[in-house]
Amino acid sequence: MKYFLPIFCTLLLFCIGCNRGPYYSANKSYKKQTKALGKELRRNPSTQTMATATAWVGTTNFNLRKPNIVVIHHTAQNSCDQTLKTFTTIRTQVSAHYVICKDGIVHHMLNDYLRAWHGGVGKWGNMSDINSSSIGIEIDNNGFETFTEPQINSLLILLDSLKKKYVIPTANFIGHADMAPGRKVDPNINFPWKNLADKGFGLWWTDTTGISIPENFNAMQAFRIIGYDIKDSSAVIQTFKRKYLQQEVSKDLTPEDRKVLFTLYKLFL
Ligand SMILES: [Zn+2]
Repeated sequence: MKYFLPIFCTLLLFCIGCNRGPYYSANKSYKKQTKALGKELRRNPSTQTMATATAWVGTTNFNLRKPNIVVIHHTAQNSCDQTLKTFTTIRTQVSAHYVICKDGIVHHMLNDYLRAWHGGVGKWGNMSDINSSSIGIEIDNNGFETFTEPQINSLLILLDSLKKKYVIPTANFIGHADMAPGRKVDPNINFPWKNLADKGFGLWWTDTTGISIPENFNAMQAFRIIGYDIKDSSAVIQTFKRKYLQQEVSKDLTPEDRKVLFTLYKLFL
């Protein structure tokens, strides 16, 4: 009988531990960090801006900044669980707002108004800090697989809600590779960009039949107008061909590729 109480207590603690789930400490850390950010926002006057200002008057008219661009990734990992673990481990220093598993389950990991660490070094148009203005969506895929139907269905529902809620422009649904040509290739060549564009998420080229390109058409300038950073021209061409022609490897633009680029670029004028 004297052993009953310690055994009972151990079992009780073990059960409480089980019920907390694998992400108990990550959720606790999330709460602590949002609380600290809230405290910083409430600081009056703000210590950040008062470094260069001489007086403080709090305005009565403001709200939170909204995301204005969506960046789609593949996880390049072997399972959704592995990605959830990666995004809840401090030393990895990477995260995303949403993770979509192969069965279509969508994990929301960060409030849309907060900055996730998914873009890294990159540029789109003149924006160089994409993390500050974007929503990051990671799709469970090892980098070579096709994307599942439930994943794409869930993605389309999510994109629809984000587009409406934050009034995100159609052209501002891009892939990680678009903002980091030569460094990133995700989402992989199997990603159904045309399907997304047909539903209003991203732009797609039009029929090239009978198209004649003006003699002074400059492909690199067209890429720049679309949004690409053109400092590495081969990387941009490869990124473009992967996304819009679903072709890997080639660094050359054929006459037909130029027609595709021309019809696409005209949508951005
Ligand atoms: Zn990525």
